[in-house]
Amino acid sequence: MEFATFADRAATIEAESADLEIVAHVRDLLAEAGDDLPIVARFVQGRVFPAWDSTTLDIGPNTCYDAIARAAGTNVDADDVEDRLAERGEIGAVAASYDFGGQQGLGAFMGGGGAGAGGAGGDNDDHNNGGTGNNNTGNLTVREVNDTLTDLAAAEGSGSQDRKVDLLFGLFNRCSNDEARYLARLVLSEMRIGVGEGTVRDAIAEAFDVPQEPVERALQVSNDYGQVAETAREDGVSGLDEIDLEIGRPVQAMLAQAGTVTDALEEWDEAAVEWKYDGARIQLHYDPADPGDPDGDNKGETHVFSRNMEAVTDALPEVVEFANEHLDSPVILDGEVVAIDDDGSPLPFQEVLKRFRRKHDVAKAREDVSVRPVFFDCLHADGDDLLDEPLVERHDQLESVLAAERQQEPEEIDGFSLLWVTDDPDEIEAVDADALEAGHEGIMLKNPDSTYSPGRRGKNWQKRKPDVETLDCVVTGAEWGEGRRATFLGTFELSVRDGDDLETVGKVATGITDEKLEELTELLEPHIVAEDGTAVELEPAVVFEVGYEEIQTSPTYSSGYALRFPRFLGVRYDKDTEGADTLERLEMLRDE
Ligand code: AMP
Repeated sequence: MEFATFADRAATIEAESADLEIVAHVRDLLAEAGDDLPIVARFVQGRVFPAWDSTTLDIGPNTCYDAIARAAGTNVDADDVEDRLAERGEIGAVAASYDFGGQQGLGAFMGGGGAGAGGAGGDNDDHNNGGTGNNNTGNLTVREVNDTLTDLAAAEGSGSQDRKVDLLFGLFNRCSNDEARYLARLVLSEMRIGVGEGTVRDAIAEAFDVPQEPVERALQVSNDYGQVAETAREDGVSGLDEIDLEIGRPVQAMLAQAGTVTDALEEWDEAAVEWKYDGARIQLHYDPADPGDPDGDNKGETHVFSRNMEAVTDALPEVVEFANEHLDSPVILDGEVVAIDDDGSPLPFQEVLKRFRRKHDVAKAREDVSVRPVFFDCLHADGDDLLDEPLVERHDQLESVLAAERQQEPEEIDGFSLLWVTDDPDEIEAVDADALEAGHEGIMLKNPDSTYSPGRRGKNWQKRKPDVETLDCVVTGAEWGEGRRATFLGTFELSVRDGDDLETVGKVATGITDEKLEELTELLEPHIVAEDGTAVELEPAVVFEVGYEEIQTSPTYSSGYALRFPRFLGVRYDKDTEGADTLERLEMLRDE
């Protein structure tokens, strides 16, 4: 396809505002793309490479301005391009405002440094800022643009920026006004003609007469609009159904939204609960060594990708080592990489950033900050794609590929996140308390039956909302524990102030470790004023800071309100009962 044809269609699409019309134009464009279909399916979204491919053109705006200026003639420099950009607001309009015809025949195929710069301005009219006088017919094709940009992306090392400018100059020099508009936008990833991923998905389905659903699925597993468009055209639904996950080709990460234990348990019969690790998302692709491995190093093929599908393998040698040590079949795992201290305890998220995208001095950075992976999902195991399997099945697969043994105690297994499936809020609180105690961020609540939906932020994964507000409550009662905890006070009754009185608002029993219970018992025992069976009444003296999910009206407590899912956060040693929160504040927080 001529690049001029592509530019013409892009202009038509840009001028259209109705979504259905845009889909129809993209459909027609794809239908007439011929052999260039994969390229056109990407270009129309402003992409040169498939979404999964982290190759970039690595062209800054200045490189692009230089190339435009050089193609525009000797009287134009990058400053002039920037001035026009300030006036016109976007690079496409600027590129379209120059007449590139003047350099024709001179530098288009020369590409050598200075070919354009040294050339005479010829008949180029750099005062032509109307963008209408350029009838350049460089006969540029979309394939040539694609191939040149691919070469340009591959340019590395010293002199590579000059080479990039040369290659780009060669393209601009053959552009008409409209071609220059869309070339500049393509190069700077600013296509902005109103074509999103959904538009191309719908257009592929319409153009090649296949249902949307298999197109959508194929896009999710491949992240390659070019391949999917071509397969839809050549092999229809059966071809699309055969597109599977591939080791080395990343999938978009499933995302979480904020949620509460209340909502999770209302929505699902049971919730799958995991620790939430405070690190950076990774996707590990591993294929074990081929027995006839030509390198003879018997190491597998390992790729690590970020949440945005960038390759980060070289920055994270620990993850590669982990894969070689623990895996022996082809897998795709989803997880988090966490920075750790010398004892293996997690460090804050900022520490992981010192390692995550690092390109140089990785060994040195590793000496300063170590990282370790923790995996929580398995997308592919030994030849089978698992995206459509329920979470609990995928988690079982994860366990078996990591050869981890299920343990009942919430004890961390190396490289693997435990999963508790429960409908018991107290158990969820206990997992949360353990996660916080171990230095992690809290918990994730997941729908145990949910499939893996790449790139989606939905209800099936919820990160527990942090407490927006906390309350300082007076402890007015408690209960002696049972069994192992018989010598500890627990289940603490919480009250707020109402004038000179104290009114109860709930009881907090979970979120407290044995060590903490011992400390609280020592603190509260001297204040016991009455005992009835295991229940004790306490003289108001100690203030707890508690988190909660909601404040509800309730006949159970004397305040008329109850804290839903109260969590013990700590003792306010700095406060006496006079400083505790009031019923008035409770009512105010409830109304917020
Ligand atoms: P946020 O970044 O706050 O939206 O929280 C979601 C992120 O938490 C995910 O993208 C992961 O990087 C991270 N995360 C940590 N632990 C887990 C887990 N067990 N399951 C899913 N995501 C997790």
